[in-house]
Amino acid sequence: MMLSGGYSSAERRVPTYARMVLILLFLAGAVVTVFFGRTRTEPAGSAWPSGHREVLGSLLDSLNTVLADTLDIRTSAVGEGGTLGGLLFSCGVEGSRYSTCVSTFIDSLGWTSVHVGDTLEAVFVRETLLEVRARPRRTRGYYRISFLPDGSASDWCWVPSERWSRIRTVELEVSSSVWESIVEAAVPSDLTPTGLIVTHRDSVREISYVKEIENELANRLFAYDIDFYHDVQPGDRIWLMIEETRYPGSSETSLRRIIAAKYVFALGGMTEAIPFFHQPDSIAPDGSAIVLDHYHRDGASLRTMFLKMPVPFGRISSVFSTSRMHPVLGYSRAHTGIDYAAPLGTEIYAVGDGIITVRGVCGGYGNMVRIRHSNTYETGYGHMNGFAPSQEVGSYVRQGDIIGYVGSTGLSTGPHVHFEMKKNGVYVNPATEILPPADPLEGEDLELYLDQLAVLERTWSIMSDVEVPVPETDPQE
Ligand SMILES: [Zn+2]
Repeated sequence: MMLSGGYSSAERRVPTYARMVLILLFLAGAVVTVFFGRTRTEPAGSAWPSGHREVLGSLLDSLNTVLADTLDIRTSAVGEGGTLGGLLFSCGVEGSRYSTCVSTFIDSLGWTSVHVGDTLEAVFVRETLLEVRARPRRTRGYYRISFLPDGSASDWCWVPSERWSRIRTVELEVSSSVWESIVEAAVPSDLTPTGLIVTHRDSVREISYVKEIENELANRLFAYDIDFYHDVQPGDRIWLMIEETRYPGSSETSLRRIIAAKYVFALGGMTEAIPFFHQPDSIAPDGSAIVLDHYHRDGASLRTMFLKMPVPFGRISSVFSTSRMHPVLGYSRAHTGIDYAAPLGTEIYAVGDGIITVRGVCGGYGNMVRIRHSNTYETGYGHMNGFAPSQEVGSYVRQGDIIGYVGSTGLSTGPHVHFEMKKNGVYVNPATEILPPADPLEGEDLELYLDQLAVLERTWSIMSDVEVPVPETDPQE
């Protein structure tokens, strides 16, 4: 690799896809999706490609159009005394494309001076330059120039980016506990600015990172498939595809979500959480953002239609009954829901996807939210201390979204959430109601999902440097 005056880390060719950190860009119009790789050994802070949530959302949509080995991404960073011209040249941008870049950056995009630490990426497919991205240091976004095959610029813009994202894969082996295995093998080396756990704050960050992964696995993805108290054995293996984010300018990594997971039992058998990005269900308003859900291999949903309860923890302080002595009113009255006592301010979750139909003060219920989940079901949450920000009547919320906080407003003797459920307009007991599973994938969605599953696993194997496990028997039989 040649380093020329003032530039560092010029990279002619992604050396190996085996250790690659995945990225992508979604080229509007051309519908070309691209992978971008850097080795994990680079210093903390450099392996952060930019990408919108939307762009990431289109990752799996586009995976099957990707031919990773046709890509060549050349990157370069400005060193002491560097210039824009030198930066372009060291990424292999030459001839008419070079002059187009210089004039577009300066005249059209207003990027008139480069500074130490600014970076440039040039994306080639089979030696043809597709796109150039320039990232001034400490900014949230990048300049992008896209090219037509004849070398003229087809488009240029500033792409703001809320944060940087990356996807990485890890493989864990359970020794004593899932927690221990996450600590040992899943915490990213650049979690903290120094890459080391040296201060109290660092260790708090590490604990919360580990806790989030464990919580995602135990309480969300595999909540219905694995009993993390009884089923976990030494020798179990967990495969994860993790999405992490970092705000430009900060050098701390945070977990965004688990994209995919596989849990292989030492005693035999496995269970999987396979991602599918798709339109939210039919009750969501038009134009709602693409959502991510997880499925089994055959397209069955990993989740049930509703969570078991609307708070992360809590004690049932009053059960559903058709008649009880009301603690405040002092006479017998039906209790149409379940009360969960929890500390003031505890988060309250929407138990299922739906539309907020009520959000405000409602007599004895105090601050209340009601959600319509389908033509059949409706849920209500009373006595809230306050509501989650940026929601209103008509907002579409997803299962697990925070809708408010535990309080004691209305007719209430202490902090709790009154949780009730109606089926076809009639109160039912949420504790005994047999809840339907969330909708499976069907038709075109299922076809697309199965196509993407193959691409996902191939990509995952490349990123992990080893074949990811798949179930031995066809689950559809
Ligand atoms: Zn109640």
